[in-house]
This record gives sequence, structure tokens and C-alpha cells, in this order.
Amino acid sequence: MYKIIDGKAVSAKVKEEVRLEVEKLIESGIKPGLAVVIVGDDSASRVYVNNKKKDCAEVGIISEEYALPAETTQEELLNLVETLNNRNDINGILVQLPLPKHLDEKAVIEAISPIKDVDAFHASNVGKIMIGDYVFLPCTPAGVMEMLKSENIEICGKNCVVIGRSNIVGKPMAMLLLHQNGTVTICHSRTKDLKAVCLSADILVAAVGIPKFVKADMVKEGAVVVDVGMDRDENGKLCGDVDFAEVADKTSFITPVPGGVGPMTRAMLMKNTLMAAKIQNNII
Ligand code: NAP
Repeated sequence: MYKIIDGKAVSAKVKEEVRLEVEKLIESGIKPGLAVVIVGDDSASRVYVNNKKKDCAEVGIISEEYALPAETTQEELLNLVETLNNRNDINGILVQLPLPKHLDEKAVIEAISPIKDVDAFHASNVGKIMIGDYVFLPCTPAGVMEMLKSENIEICGKNCVVIGRSNIVGKPMAMLLLHQNGTVTICHSRTKDLKAVCLSADILVAAVGIPKFVKADMVKEGAVVVDVGMDRDENGKLCGDVDFAEVADKTSFITPVPGGVGPMTRAMLMKNTLMAAKIQNNII
């Protein structure tokens, strides 16, 4: 019998912990602030930004939204980032990706002060993750780790397979599992015999972006399956990278979509913003 790892419940716990810490900070005169920058009118980005503002309100973090028109120039965007870097009342800066095509995402991320980079996408923070000396963890992989921890799932010595090697999810995910002494394999679109690799997994993390990609014949009996995917099925309904209906029975633990990794990503952003406020006020 499998157990569902409830991302909503775990994220509520994380957010409550953040809220209590924020409350204490506010009592001591520090008001954590997050600036969220959105360029253009991508509807998915708009939903994500609204959710982030909602989360901030819930935990007591002040949020400022900068909604810029699609035709914003690179210079204008970089100027805004610079202004936010220099403001003491803004502890975290998040530029919602993807940016319109004419803008250089890499340059924009690199312009964010690393101590305000609450997404942990800046090269300096990515490098710190590699050497295990990190302050901010990228929100999605950090959320996955928190979910595994919530069920006391042992990682040490386990075969961990991550499908996907993006900078945002796959690579840092693999690194975090490695830091917990997992034996980690990263798979991607050129992996040969993906099924055989997946069948070796005690912990399987899917971050592929293909609806219901992971099927029952790719999952070892008793494995822990984490579904990072946020996809749409043939009816336009939100689903994950794992075919939950056929995979769940083979697992010991599985995360659902929706209600799994998604809420955790949001909660970890709040945790990173709190951390940023503490660092910038020399509390850590
Ligand atoms: P991405 O940048 O498109 O990366 C997808 C990865 O999957 C790539 O490394 C790709 O390999 C690999 N892949 C594609 N087809 C494959 C195949 N047939 N076999 C094996 N590997 C294959 O996507 P991402 O940004 O990492 O996101 C992945 C999923 O997570 C998406 O559904 C996204 O919406 C979701 N997501 C969710 C959250 C959340 O909060 N829940 C956050 C971020 C992302 P190559 O490198 O060889 O192309």
C-alpha cells in the first residue's frame, strides 16, 4: 500500500514556520520584503506571480510587484534590478521566467545580487550548491527534499534516479540528493535504456515535462516516486510526469499532481526570502 506525500500539508507546515519567524523579525523592526518582476503578459507567469504575492501575504512578507510591458528593454530591466539590489527594504528579488525573447535571461539573473537571489539561479549560488556550501537552495529541489524529510525517507546509500537535467530542477535536484549521500544517476533525452535505469531507482524523481511519461514498467516495486512535472493532459487538465493511476500501486511513497511539489516550491520561496532578510540583517 502506497502513501501519498501531501505537498499541501507539508508546505502549510513550512509556511507556518516561516510566518512565526517573520513575526519575530517584524517585532525586532525588520520587515522582510520580496520584489517580484514580471515582464509581458504570459498567463502562466501571471498565475505564478499572483500565487507568490498570496504566499507573501500569508506569511507576513511584504511583496512588491513590478509588472513591466512586453517591450521593456534590457537596459530598463537591468536598471530596475540594480535599483532593487540597492534597496535595504527589499531582501529578495525574483524575476519571473521566461522573459520575452528579446531579453537576455542569463544577464538579468546575473545582475541580481546573489544575496537577494531567492530563486538561487545566479551562477554564484549554483556554484555554492555544487560544493555543498549553500545559503539558498533552488525552490523546487529544496521542496522535494523537504517532502522526503517529512516522511523520514532515507536517502543515504539509496539509488536515486533523476529524469531531467535542467539547471532549475534536474541538476540541483541531483546535487541535493548527492549531498545526502544518495547514489545518483541523472537521465535525459539521450539516455540509453531509460527504463532499465529507472528500474534501479529506490527514489525516482521525474522532471521531464512530458505528461504521464513515467509508466508502471519503469518503477521498481516499493520505490519512492516524486513527480515534479506540471503538464497538461489530453483534456487540458493539470497532470504530472508520472502516470499516477498506473504507477502508484508499485510505490511506497508517491507525490501527487496537483498538490505535490508545486505547493512546496512556493513555500520554499518564502523560506528563502526569510533567509535573505536574516542574512542581510546579520542575524545568521
Ligand atoms: P526542461 O528544462 O524542459 O527539462 C526537461 C528535461 O527532461 C531535459 O533535461 C530533457 O533532456 C529531459 N527529457 C525530455 N524528454 C526526455 C525523454 N524522452 N527521456 C528522458 N529525458 C527527457 O524542464 P524543467 O524546467 O526541468 O521542468 C520539468 C518539469 O517540471 C515540467 O513539467 C515543468 O513544468 C515542471 N516544473 C515544476 C515545478 C514545480 O514547482 N512543481 C517547477 C519547475 C518545473 P535533454 O536535456 O536531453 O533535453
